[in-house]
Amino acid sequence: MLFKVTILGSGTCAVTKERSCSSYALQIGEQFFLLDIGFGSLRRLAEAGLNYRAIDAVVISHLHPDHVADLVPLLMALHFTPNFTRRKTLSLFGPPGLLAYLRGQHELHGDWVMRQTPFTLQIEEIDSEIQLGSCLISALPMKHKPVSYGYRLQCNSCTLAYSGDTGYCPEVVALFANVDLGILECSFPDELAIDEHLTPSLAGRIAQESGCRRLLLTHFYPSLDISAAIAGCRRIYDGPVEAAADLMSVAIGEEPREFA
Ligand SMILES: [Zn+2]
Ligand SMILES: [Zn+2]
Repeated sequence: MLFKVTILGSGTCAVTKERSCSSYALQIGEQFFLLDIGFGSLRRLAEAGLNYRAIDAVVISHLHPDHVADLVPLLMALHFTPNFTRRKTLSLFGPPGLLAYLRGQHELHGDWVMRQTPFTLQIEEIDSEIQLGSCLISALPMKHKPVSYGYRLQCNSCTLAYSGDTGYCPEVVALFANVDLGILECSFPDELAIDEHLTPSLAGRIAQESGCRRLLLTHFYPSLDISAAIAGCRRIYDGPVEAAADLMSVAIGEEPREFA
């Protein structure tokens, strides 16, 4: 099974022209998911040539706006695009608090955010794992507040892990154990380290300890020098590592090739 991951946002709340907020489009066969949907994601989807009307599911790591703020705009677009009537179910998965978040938005914006016609909105706060089409998605709590999940996706023989936001913790090492592709946050340079985010050396340590087969660093604040970050990570991790860039895509589940 081939996974195609398109990076819609490799940045943070401190957006730049080059880096939008967190969002990753996953195409697995006919299935089309988003991992996170920070502000600017819908615009980046259009720039990537991907159609928001076709999304099957959105999986949210946590409820910081740079990971969730375009969820209501997506629902608005699905309800109010002229000459378009969505019929297929949209699934929304996330950590505890997702339902309360959507109820609050429903109240704030009128009655359409959680409307169940003309398409069904399936909303689920993940406990530990869910089956999504051909994909088994496991969630582990990361070191970040509010409650924040990292996800591991298993689809036939392919595995992918996504950290969302986190500091160093045993759970993120377990999440990344021997995955084909690990998408790992790397927010700040080592000298600006804080508990709830990663630096290049911590990202390298996680990749090395977990046996992650291929590492994609992401969630870069503007203060991070990207080439220095890759070099710092490589000092600890001896596998292939690359920096995410908005609109780049990566395929797994076929012969390894260079990042495109
Ligand atoms: Zn973030
Ligand atoms: Zn966060």
